[in-house]
Amino acid sequence: KGFGDYFLSSEMLQALEKVGYQTPTPVQHAAIPLVMAGIDLIVQSQTGTGKTAAFGVPSIELLDPRPGIIEMLVLAPTRELARQVAAEIERLGEFKGINVATIYGGTSYEKQYEEIEKASIICATPGRLVDILKRGKISFDNLRVLCLDEADEMLSMGFAEDLNTIIGYLPEERQSLLFSATITPEVKALANNMLYYPEFITF
Ligand code: AMP
Repeated sequence: KGFGDYFLSSEMLQALEKVGYQTPTPVQHAAIPLVMAGIDLIVQSQTGTGKTAAFGVPSIELLDPRPGIIEMLVLAPTRELARQVAAEIERLGEFKGINVATIYGGTSYEKQYEEIEKASIICATPGRLVDILKRGKISFDNLRVLCLDEADEMLSMGFAEDLNTIIGYLPEERQSLLFSATITPEVKALANNMLYYPEFITF
């Protein structure tokens, strides 16, 4: 199987060629068609398996990017992961005109506000995102896809309450994806709260 078998756009195939991905990894092979079909998904997988492109490729294909209209939110436990995911999504979305805003603590608000004004995807750590939401600086009215990356890590870092707050700002009608290396009872409870009849796949 190659990426050419998934009915991807020519812009996406061009981006995949530029980043040098020729063969989908197992998690990509399983997740891409399911995400493109619009269903909610719990994916158990480790880092290094290609999980970022597993949600990035199909989600980008579902978007209709217009600058400043936020259609996708990725939540990650750390600044490093948020930046890494943002960089990968920017590479994959290059030919579809995707702009990503990266939101994390410990840095100036002004620069992040400027990024939000141009973005169609936000990659964020939960704490700073809650902060910016309470200041009224982001509208999620047009959000289509939510992705929780390293959900187990976010919970063990104490972000459960922030995640609940964030969900309150999102439209109920959306697609939700949850990625986690371990599926603990806490991760299951989070999925119960935030996903709608999810499919579960494991690697
Ligand atoms: P991730 O699990 O998303 O952190 O990805 C791990 C690494 O695999 C990253 O350096 C990606 O650039 C790379 N990668 C992801 N998908 C593919 C693929 N289909 N072919 C080759 N490399 C890939």
